[in-house]
Amino acid sequence: MASDFEAQLRAVSLRVTKPRLAVLAALRDHPHVDTDTVIALVRAGHPTVSQQAVYDVLRALTDAGLVRRIQPARATARYEARVGDNHHHVVCRVCGAIADVDCVVGEAPCLTAADDHGFVVDEAEVVYWGTCPDCTTARISQ
Ligand SMILES: [Zn+2]
Ligand SMILES: [Zn+2]
Repeated sequence: MASDFEAQLRAVSLRVTKPRLAVLAALRDHPHVDTDTVIALVRAGHPTVSQQAVYDVLRALTDAGLVRRIQPARATARYEARVGDNHHHVVCRVCGAIADVDCVVGEAPCLTAADDHGFVVDEAEVVYWGTCPDCTTARISQ
């Protein structure tokens, strides 16, 4: 799998480094995690990688489009390596769990605005809010 990440980095003209590979691997295995979790995951496998290095890598990968930063209202920013497919997220109001939801009609930008006010729309950000199965179960059994 590492070679896939190397190819991804080269495709956006980023140098292949151990911290960058580690962050991409962490996000592949753990989508929708916050910065602190990324740091913990990376440092578990690579103790010499500093916290600041992870911050820098997240910023570089996000700027390059290899990582997507998502920030639902009132939640901390999360990161994921699934990019470019215009997918959406369902967020639990109780515990903040996030899951992927495929594009509403299968083609970006998903929603044709009733009135686009003359803007050229290329993306529709959709967040579904609700209660995840775990929290629903906890609520019922209370
Ligand atoms: Zn929940
Ligand atoms: Zn996602």
